[in-house]
Amino acid sequence: MATPLREVLAGQPRVLAYLERSLDAERAGVAREGGAQGISHAYLFSGSALVEDAALALAKSLVCPEGGCSTEAPCAQCARVERGSHPDVKVLEPLSATRGYLLEQVQGIIADAALTPIEATRKVYVVKEADTLGIQAANALLKTLEEPASDVVFILCAPSADSVLQTIRSRCSVVPFSAADPSAAESALLAGEAPERARMALAIASSAPQARAFLQSEPRQETRRAICAFLARPEAPSDWDALSLAEGVVERAHAGAADDEARDDADDEGLEDFLTKTARQAIVDRKKRATSAAERRALAEAVREVETLLRDALATSAGTSEPPLNADAPDLVAALAARGEEPLLEALEACEGASRHLNRSTTPVLVLQVLFLSLKESLWQPSAR
Ligand SMILES: [Zn+2]
Repeated sequence: MATPLREVLAGQPRVLAYLERSLDAERAGVAREGGAQGISHAYLFSGSALVEDAALALAKSLVCPEGGCSTEAPCAQCARVERGSHPDVKVLEPLSATRGYLLEQVQGIIADAALTPIEATRKVYVVKEADTLGIQAANALLKTLEEPASDVVFILCAPSADSVLQTIRSRCSVVPFSAADPSAAESALLAGEAPERARMALAIASSAPQARAFLQSEPRQETRRAICAFLARPEAPSDWDALSLAEGVVERAHAGAADDEARDDADDEGLEDFLTKTARQAIVDRKKRATSAAERRALAEAVREVETLLRDALATSAGTSEPPLNADAPDLVAALAARGEEPLLEALEACEGASRHLNRSTTPVLVLQVLFLSLKESLWQPSAR
């Protein structure tokens, strides 16, 4: 049977086998006697653009009386999870674009998790972007993750396990996804794109739908071109070049986010008349948050663009046969590889620092300025020649 897990995890056989074993053990009741591993109270899904889709698929398997229906013929429970209206499945995302999850938000989740499920036998919380749980919010969540009510399952999603605070990570069953091959579901979303382009977009964007949007967005493509041009310079760029690159990236992130918002407005036309003033305000507020989330996403993409190029260069200098993520930039990858391993690792470290800071910073332009200045220092140092 094509369960939602099998649909989403077609390209992730180890993850699929692990989750199905746990579901089977749970159903057989083995887990309750402390035998085989059943369903964990908390998972951390990491390492692929697919983790959020997989989290929803697992949520369906947990609340559906059939253990999860195919997307073509879902039961009422599965359909409601898909629409985001199931009372026992909550999908959470950070409320603050700059500070990630707010303490009050996490306190709300904790209070909610203490209540019994309404329709299903379990409550499931999908925590998107768990890497934006700051120290305060994370501390509040620890006890609930450690001793959750027996009918509660948390599924945390993050780009990598390392990006999540260690205190949180150590209380979760970490499920590493492989980033290598796009799964069937990812390929379906990117149908019509050349496989190399799809692969590049999936490595850069945060999810398969975002990868599609990335390929179709002129400002986001322009940012990638600007970053490639900066890294491709044979002579060291000036500090001013680094600073203005950062400004350009931030400006285009803002412009691209405004485009997304305009599209949303067109979708909502005609609806406004029927809404109360409070409901309208709620939509405006949601859009403001969504706009900054879109900006933040575009900035994170810019950092990952640099990161994937550096990784390709490292792989090239190590002589691996893995196909590069940036198949359209072989000259740039070769030029970066020629700078040597140490400068590349140093530059990669700067990217990791920037990713961490972007989630918490109120002034993303400063984070990017620091990043491009350090790239300039690492990659064009005289000893690299
Ligand atoms: Zn179902």
